[in-house]
Amino acid sequence: MTVRTRFAPSPTGYLHLGGARTALFSWAYARHFGGTFILRIEDTDLERSTPEAVQAILDGMNWLGLQHDEGPFYQMKRMDRYREVVAQMLEAGNAYLCYCTPEEVEAMRERQRAIGEKPRYDGTWRPEPGKTLPPVPEGIRPVVRFKNPLDGDVTWNDVVKGTITISNRELDDLVIARPDGTPTYNFCVAVDDWDMRITHVIRGDDHVNNTPRQINILRALGAPLPEYGHVPMILGADGEKLSKRHGAVSVMEYPAQGFLPEAMLNYLARLGWSHGDEEIFSMEQFIQWFDLDHLSKSPAQFNPEKLAWLNNHYIRQSDDARLAALVRPLLEKEGAQFDGAPALEPVIALLKERANTINELSEAAMLFYRQPRPDPALMAQHVTEAVRPALAQFIGQCRGIEWNKAALSASMKEVLAAHKLKMPQLAMPLRLLVTGQLQTPSIDAVLELFGRETVLARLEKNLG
Ligand code: GLU
Repeated sequence: MTVRTRFAPSPTGYLHLGGARTALFSWAYARHFGGTFILRIEDTDLERSTPEAVQAILDGMNWLGLQHDEGPFYQMKRMDRYREVVAQMLEAGNAYLCYCTPEEVEAMRERQRAIGEKPRYDGTWRPEPGKTLPPVPEGIRPVVRFKNPLDGDVTWNDVVKGTITISNRELDDLVIARPDGTPTYNFCVAVDDWDMRITHVIRGDDHVNNTPRQINILRALGAPLPEYGHVPMILGADGEKLSKRHGAVSVMEYPAQGFLPEAMLNYLARLGWSHGDEEIFSMEQFIQWFDLDHLSKSPAQFNPEKLAWLNNHYIRQSDDARLAALVRPLLEKEGAQFDGAPALEPVIALLKERANTINELSEAAMLFYRQPRPDPALMAQHVTEAVRPALAQFIGQCRGIEWNKAALSASMKEVLAAHKLKMPQLAMPLRLLVTGQLQTPSIDAVLELFGRETVLARLEKNLG
């Protein structure tokens, strides 16, 4: 059997973290078995679906590199097929026309609630052997209802949650086509999973209630049943349902904040799935390890610090040219001046250890691409009369040394010894004079990158 999985988002908003995670699991499962991953856009809710949301989903999948092998299939383009299956079901006696008006169905429910029963369709129009149906009313367009089995249970062995059993008595005769003929949600999903020969449905556990209905429809169609796995939702660190309060919920906000896709993938992979204590792994490794047995039954908690930690890891692993390409547009937006400034790649190499995001990396890199404007108060505090002779000696030495970190460091030590100063007493004024800031990476590395001419020019200018 070839494994065929699908991701079936409703394009009613951005691609959120929970959706991206189920997409990742479905994708990885297909990849693990050399199977097929299908993208299906469930766009039948015309009021809530938008082309922008479709694009946001495609962008999110693309950014994460979760490539589909088939699709995207749009349910709105499959209407003829659904109508065809509705007709077949009517023909086969698995579905029937129901002429109850919405008001009648509501009144029916009211009556049931009043006597303490669970509100459900009472089967008025359900044909049974020997039963006489009411006369067909004039001027009413019927809905089509699925003839759900009256007795027995629906049981499936959920690959995440274990065996789940729902009594058919809990299930209504579901409307599968509205008066205007448009098919309804659970019906479309069942037909699609059948037509697309889906073998494993991995989705959020907000769909558990839909599963017995879909299974009954698939059975009525004589379709093979896929395996189902319902993944618990993602909660915020406070145990509440994940929302904007907990950080960005839309996947595409993460590249905007400077996250790398491999960090996001690694993070999402561990959100509700584990392989021993492994925290950091590539997608190749994940595909090799991924199985449905190690999906967690309990909700995962979103932890932005861990995501940032992983992002830092992948930033450190990335080559400088790739990071430079990501940082450069951000620097340009900040008005960075590249003329006469150090090349970006060595700057990145110096700064990437400490950056949790590309945006942080860019902010740090601005150090090298703007004119320093040392704050006069800080100047007064750090460039004291006691320090000036040391600075003067350092400037003098700068002309004669080789321009590299080691030589700069040795030269500074010589100055410190001669003037009986401690490192910060020289390093702080140098930072301030050359960069305008007190916080920079190691001063010898910073000076090396700026280059002799810039360092001397700035020291002379800012010392006044
Ligand atoms: N369209 C559904 C959603 O976005 C998913 C349906 C499914 O996976 O079966 O929640």
